[in-house]
Amino acid sequence: MGKGFWGIGLICLAIFLCSCTTTRTEVREMREHELREEKAAPVEPTPEEAPSVPGIPPEEIAPEEEPEEIPEETPEEAPSVPEIPSEEIAPEEELKAEDIGRYYEEMESMDDPSFQCTTCNEAVGEGHICGLTTYCQQCLEEVGSGHVCDLTFFCYDCKKEVGDGHICDITTFCLNCEEEVGEDHICDVTYFCYDCEKEVGDEHICGVTQFCSVCKVEAGEGHVCGKTYFCFDCEKEASTEHQHEIQ
Ligand SMILES: [Zn+2]
Ligand SMILES: [Zn+2]
Ligand SMILES: [Zn+2]
Ligand SMILES: [Zn+2]
Ligand SMILES: [Zn+2]
Ligand SMILES: [Zn+2]
Ligand SMILES: [Zn+2]
Repeated sequence: MGKGFWGIGLICLAIFLCSCTTTRTEVREMREHELREEKAAPVEPTPEEAPSVPGIPPEEIAPEEEPEEIPEETPEEAPSVPEIPSEEIAPEEELKAEDIGRYYEEMESMDDPSFQCTTCNEAVGEGHICGLTTYCQQCLEEVGSGHVCDLTFFCYDCKKEVGDGHICDITTFCLNCEEEVGEDHICDVTYFCYDCEKEVGDEHICGVTQFCSVCKVEAGEGHVCGKTYFCFDCEKEASTEHQHEIQ
């Protein structure tokens, strides 16, 4: 009995050592091995095995305990090994998923209607035109080049930045005057008359005067550059010699 069991014990020990099971099992096996090999001290196994099954003599426990321990501990330890990494991975994946969820929540919580353009990979807004419009974080909309916050917006017909009062194909935004202007605009000299729909001077009278780009003043009908000028008292073009008596 003792030798037969001992043979099993050795095989088991070899299996345990090879399979690198937990140190607890190895230590116990090693101790049992050493204790039985000594034989000279039969009293010693008692404190070692006594705690596992108290009240039963150690000699009877030994043969029963060992074959039972092998199948019991092996399946116990086998699942415990894959459990460790699986437990470690599981929370990591959960955290990542939570982080992504939070990220989207933050994006949604802001009143930012921008989304990513699949072509230029930029955060863009509705009506984005690649290479032509970009997203203004302040105005929260797509804008063109030369955009001035609160002053200009993108005209999709003219395909450029325009200001308040913009008329397609007629007015454009003057960055210097910071307003919509017409053709032949001269900064600080002309402005856009919405009735005449063209650039006019300071003294412009709708339907009567128009801007002379050569003389750079408002002029009336029959105006000849260098020879006539518009007399605002007479409300008509007069020769350069035309003068009113000093009152
Ligand atoms: Zn784009
Ligand atoms: Zn802006
Ligand atoms: Zn336009
Ligand atoms: Zn201007
Ligand atoms: Zn006018
Ligand atoms: Zn003129
Ligand atoms: Zn006059």
